[in-house]
Amino acid sequence: MSDAPARRLRQLGDVPVSQLRNIGEKRTAALSSLGIDNVFDLLTVYPRRYLDRTKRVDLSDLNVGDEAAVFGEVVKVSSRRTRQGRVMVDVTVSDDGDSFKVVFFNQAWRERQLTTGVQALFFGKVSDYKGQRQMTNPVVDVIVGASGEERDPSKVGRVVAIYPASGKAGLTSWEMGGFIEESLRRAGPFFDPLTSSEREEFDLVDRTQAYWGIHLPQEEIDKIPARRRLAFDEFLRLQLLLALRRQRVEASSQGIRHPFDVLDLDVTPGETVTRASSLVRRFLSGHRYSLTNAQHRVLEEIAGDMSSSLPMHRLLQGDVGSGKTMVALAAMLASLDGGRQGVLMAPTEVLAEQHVASLRRDLEGLSVPDDSVLGGQRPLSVQLLTGRVRAKERQAVLDGLMQGSVDIVVGTHALLNEDVRFRALGLIVIDEQHRFGVEQRATLRDQGRERSNEGADPDVLVMTATPIPRTAAMVLFGDLNFSVLDEMPQGRRPIETKWAREESEVNECWQRVRQEVAAGRRAYVICALVEDSEKIEATSAVEERTRLALNELRGLAVGLLHGQMKSQEKEEVMRQFRTGELEVLVATVVIEVGVDVPEASVIVIEDAWRFGLAQLHQLRGRVGRSDQQSYCFLLGTPPNEEGEKRLNALVGSNDGFELAEIDLEMRGEGTLLGSRQQGRSDLKLARLKTDEELLLSAQRLATSMAERGEDALAEMVDELRLFVDDDEATYLFKS
Ligand code: ADP
Ligand code: MG
Repeated sequence: MSDAPARRLRQLGDVPVSQLRNIGEKRTAALSSLGIDNVFDLLTVYPRRYLDRTKRVDLSDLNVGDEAAVFGEVVKVSSRRTRQGRVMVDVTVSDDGDSFKVVFFNQAWRERQLTTGVQALFFGKVSDYKGQRQMTNPVVDVIVGASGEERDPSKVGRVVAIYPASGKAGLTSWEMGGFIEESLRRAGPFFDPLTSSEREEFDLVDRTQAYWGIHLPQEEIDKIPARRRLAFDEFLRLQLLLALRRQRVEASSQGIRHPFDVLDLDVTPGETVTRASSLVRRFLSGHRYSLTNAQHRVLEEIAGDMSSSLPMHRLLQGDVGSGKTMVALAAMLASLDGGRQGVLMAPTEVLAEQHVASLRRDLEGLSVPDDSVLGGQRPLSVQLLTGRVRAKERQAVLDGLMQGSVDIVVGTHALLNEDVRFRALGLIVIDEQHRFGVEQRATLRDQGRERSNEGADPDVLVMTATPIPRTAAMVLFGDLNFSVLDEMPQGRRPIETKWAREESEVNECWQRVRQEVAAGRRAYVICALVEDSEKIEATSAVEERTRLALNELRGLAVGLLHGQMKSQEKEEVMRQFRTGELEVLVATVVIEVGVDVPEASVIVIEDAWRFGLAQLHQLRGRVGRSDQQSYCFLLGTPPNEEGEKRLNALVGSNDGFELAEIDLEMRGEGTLLGSRQQGRSDLKLARLKTDEELLLSAQRLATSMAERGEDALAEMVDELRLFVDDDEATYLFKS
């Protein structure tokens, strides 16, 4: 290391912007309104694009029809009304003696923005107006304001970075560039927390080069390695935080060694077992199906976690219908084998009730040891706990959990209630975790130990059918291990999805429903989502059911299911639909997740464009749950292109992972990372989609750094303090 006092990022975070030259109160306030308070904040405002002054477009070379970016100074501006009554602003721009014309229609404010002396970049198509080249309504980047000439043009390199100017805050790109340039010059060389061999290994330039290269490149191409290094740093900090968090959790945790023997997974249905065999073994030998290869593999991973002394935190991703419930059940039985209890938390009552019913069916005949009864065995007990369970029953379930006479409890977020305590809680399974808030998930996980008399941390398995792309998962759930069910149970046929636009296609759809019902199968009709109001949604479902029963589905047994119905009513309707007493179920999105009626072979989704892509895929997943050919019909005309894209994507793919990628692309990363990412830890340069290799490298380095221990990490820890709040810092860092 050289003797020069190399600059730490955190030192820059301590320097308020007001210490820069030419930056009075007004500018300080303007910057602050953009969330820029200190010099570090400034240095992470990255250019939107670059203007290469050596490659200035010669105006005489511009051809009509070209898309071009032209830089120039406003020399004249005027406005008038056209004959059609539109406001037209007429701007003459000059560049080195050449001049050209820019006109704006219906943008009267341009006259105030582009006053004489303003220098700006104009992006647009060159057109011809009476023999003169001009641009109409181009995109404008003001580089230098009429009076804001604080930056010394002679000092700016050949390539000028264009910053996101803020009209609202009254800051031009030029001013921003000036502040950043001054910050860089005064900061001097940066301290680099990476060694030169680490930089070499990951093909990274040093930090000084990176900050200069992105803000003040000599040549435009310098920005590429600069961006690479800075994006790497973003990922590295994020991954390091996750690694440290994981270490902390591990250091303070007290896991349970469950007796989960992987050999018990090789049991096939019908194999003989004894009462001394494990529950896992007895369950698999008595089950309808044998495990799919993917279920087997995932359960091996889970068995590895559960039998280790560290608590399991595993995320199981499996497309709709891939058979996650069976995996959860086997894991739960391993917990019971150790004399402990299991929790299964579902996001909706309908799903919780379904789980209780199917678990009871699947576990029928299984018994667990019980010293208090003759023969030392009692039937395994599965109980329901939701907000709608009546007080007396609820108390009985709570008592059972305390005493240990209830083995598995299935419920909704009602399980999070304070008074739910366990004799010995071994495993928590959270189904369809994407439907829960981050906090709810954390509550169960963090309180698991306190809630259980055993005083140990239960294992946690979270399951989701809404896959998120791997890179996003690494960023969002970096503190979890991953398993993927990447195989459907045998004999499944891809669901045929059709977007019925023409009247004839819609008729065909209802005809299909009748045909399937006639063949002994069942159908869902999903009513459109109504602006977050369960009540209105319920009404519209009621009306739609009546309408269909009188018209398209006349003569069929049509049932109704919506969120405003009482638990008991819902249960009864689901029961009738399962048995076939009801042939068609008109429902709101209450059936979105998890509902499993294998005989259902058609789903009609009305006004389908109102649903998100992931939600549509989930809804579609209610069919195709047997070896029957299934169908999904999308109805309605999207009012916008977005909606059209979603429906086309759904028609084009049956693969949840592929759809997740498309969804991410359509909605942007921001929405996905939104809730988790805050403030300065935002990924500003790094992109999940295109920077996967960088992310993997950063993760590798973060893991090895974390293993070196905090003392060796002092510099990185110091830097990380910029990115976490005080509470988190206290938790994560020793000193
Ligand atoms: P999801 O992953 O969507 O929660 P489920 O667990 O509801 O899927 O399973 C979907 C359907 O597949 C259910 O009807 C279930 O009984 C069936 N299933 C699960 N595992 C297997 C298997 N190994 N072989 C055949 N069918 C299976
Ligand atoms: Mg499920």
